[in-house]
Amino acid sequence: MEKTPSNIVIKFGGTSVATKEAVHAIIAIVKRYRKSNPVVVVSALRGVTEGLLGLSKCPKAQLPGRISALRAMHQKLASDLFPTDKDVAEVMAYVDEQLAATEKVARKGRFNPAAMDQLVSAGEIMSSFLIAKALETNDIASRQVVSTEIVATDDNFMQAEFQPKETEKNARRILAPLIRRGIVPVVTGFLGSTKKGQTTTLGRGGSDYSASIIGRSLDAKEIQIWTDVDGIFTADPRVVKNARIISDISYREASEMAAFGAKVLHPRTIRPAVEKNIPVRVLNTFNLKASGTLVSPRSTGTGLKAIAFKKNVVLVNVYSDSMLFSRGFLARMFEVFARHQISIDLVSVSEVSVSVTLDSNNGHLDAAVKELEAFSKVSVHKDSFGMISLIGEGIASAQDIMTNVSAQFSRHRIPLRMISMGASDINISLVIPAADVVRAANMVHDEFLRN
Ligand code: ADP
Ligand code: ASP
Ligand code: MG
Repeated sequence: MEKTPSNIVIKFGGTSVATKEAVHAIIAIVKRYRKSNPVVVVSALRGVTEGLLGLSKCPKAQLPGRISALRAMHQKLASDLFPTDKDVAEVMAYVDEQLAATEKVARKGRFNPAAMDQLVSAGEIMSSFLIAKALETNDIASRQVVSTEIVATDDNFMQAEFQPKETEKNARRILAPLIRRGIVPVVTGFLGSTKKGQTTTLGRGGSDYSASIIGRSLDAKEIQIWTDVDGIFTADPRVVKNARIISDISYREASEMAAFGAKVLHPRTIRPAVEKNIPVRVLNTFNLKASGTLVSPRSTGTGLKAIAFKKNVVLVNVYSDSMLFSRGFLARMFEVFARHQISIDLVSVSEVSVSVTLDSNNGHLDAAVKELEAFSKVSVHKDSFGMISLIGEGIASAQDIMTNVSAQFSRHRIPLRMISMGASDINISLVIPAADVVRAANMVHDEFLRN
């Protein structure tokens, strides 16, 4: 196979694909990186994924109204962007075609995970067409590429995992010739396809992951995630008011932040980049002067670097029927979780019980609980708890941090329900009442990360 020209991947999130100003920023960014052979990856327009998912929950009588609302969002952006009626009409003909297919899926009313992925896929398909067209009308040769043609996945619908070999082959076959001809591919984020050709998605926020999958497949020089904040902060800047930008962060730290709730990156984004040592940069579409955050293999010192949190986690307590664990109890229990595709964040074990936390919307919890009840007592807390994670290389060996943190929580009367320090020495996680998460995040940040 011919060598793929070296390139960079630039991904734009939903907020960057929302208004005329935002799309103009995208155009400027693509122009800036034109010499680096950019491959663009896009999310759906802001709010569109939510709107599409909502079609599965609304009464059928509301479908036409909801579809019109989705149409209007695209119509408004297209009319704001394109100078001629002809361009607007071309985009809207495409949008109408996609929405007609979507409405058909919604009318069937059978919303299994495969149908949900079919339903939600229209968002990225429409946005990529619109962005490719916007680049074209600004003298940048460009082509929409629907990633179901590229990203090969398993059939774990709504949370699919990509298959590296097949994906790499597809990416090179489809994207390399475009790049070589100076055409900027505009690839749908979020979507993949099974062997049988059924559309899958990579989980909410999955366009970040798409970007790194494409970057890995093409051996890109850099993967850029353009979003609506200046980069990765010491904590979510929308929640923690004194959060500061981090200029450099290691792969491990960024992965840990994403896995423990920092929405700025999809939890699996870093992994494909690590495999090929590709730097990931997080940048702000609305502030081209900011230099963003560089995520790379380089470690940048030890100790607390950032705080991530989840406002809500599911806490499951499993009590052994006999007073002490019989041999194999833990193995049996984790096997049940694994079989129901439930991934576990934290575990704490005492002599008679095991507590685990999970993300909400994760696997088939009800079915798993039913099976666990055959050999244990189980209690599930869905809305009561959240989690704060203190992240940084070498954090657990940092002297006194645990003592200081526990003292602080006790002083502020926030009860600690569970504590976990991983063996990898990069994360200390605390399970606390959901109602205290925001206060605790600000409190821990101000105490340990303010400057
Ligand atoms: P996009 O649509 O571009 O994918 P997201 O909403 O998925 O954007 O991610 C960006 C958001 O992530 C920010 O607006 C911010 O509120 C949130 N966020 C959470 N934690 C952090 C963090 N540590 N640093 C920066 N942003 C964060
Ligand atoms: N549009 C999808 C979502 O909202 C994927 C993404 O934006 O990354 O989850
Ligand atoms: Mg996102």
